Amino acid sequence: MIRIGPAGYPSGSRSPEDAIDAVASMGLSALELQFGRGVRMDLERATAIGRHAFSAGVRLSAHAPYYVNFHSQSQETRDRSIGWVMDTVRVCHRLNASPAVIHAASYGKDKEGSTASVIDGLGRCLEIMDREGIRNVRLGLEAMGKKSSWGTLDELEEAVRALSQAIPVLDLAHLHARDGGGLDSEHKVREILRRGRRMSDGPLHLHVSGIEFGDRGERKHLPLDSGSPDTGLLLAPLRELTEDVTVIVESPLPERDAVWLLSRLRQ
Ligand SMILES: [Zn+2]
Repeated sequence: MIRIGPAGYPSGSRSPEDAIDAVASMGLSALELQFGRGVRMDLERATAIGRHAFSAGVRLSAHAPYYVNFHSQSQETRDRSIGWVMDTVRVCHRLNASPAVIHAASYGKDKEGSTASVIDGLGRCLEIMDREGIRNVRLGLEAMGKKSSWGTLDELEEAVRALSQAIPVLDLAHLHARDGGGLDSEHKVREILRRGRRMSDGPLHLHVSGIEFGDRGERKHLPLDSGSPDTGLLLAPLRELTEDVTVIVESPLPERDAVWLLSRLRQ
């Protein structure tokens, strides 16, 4: 089954429940909560919001703060990154949201060793999750679009293999940007999905949008009909999937484009 939904609350939403209802009323069935600037949600509230989403048929995931960096030169940032991921994971646990989507690291001056740093930091998160009995949340390692960010498919694969509760978050626009416009055929889309399925023993989680890019990779996200990449190339490969897949639309017009993608997939 394919679930499609926006990154962030639809515009005009007055509360998380309102946002969930708006998503459901548009015929969508997924919503990624945005905690990019910090997790400010009471745990009791999260339980109620999670129940509301369940009864509305909307599957939740959540994006962790952007300042996580497990390969920072600063020990303090590395330690605090564990806290930022855990804040997200604990709220996800109450919301019954998964995965907690993570931008795990920047290379900084020392690209070598970055995957080991990510595995070390997230491994410590998994130990805490284990102690706290959190089993319903996966750590979603996002494929990143800037060449200075950790998160190629090879890096994700190495980390996911080492981390028991981790899955890849296949951001197709980021992969397109990083590869200088490489997502130019259905064959390439199928290759990425196949790799993702090999890595993930759970459901597939995708991000899509249009994207502008340059020599250093991603510049900015664009609407889905921007042609970069051609959204038409995603349709047949997505329809062929038999497992659970969630597609989160991260364009500047996320709910409009999520509805558009859903209608194109149904054609
Ligand atoms: Zn992201």
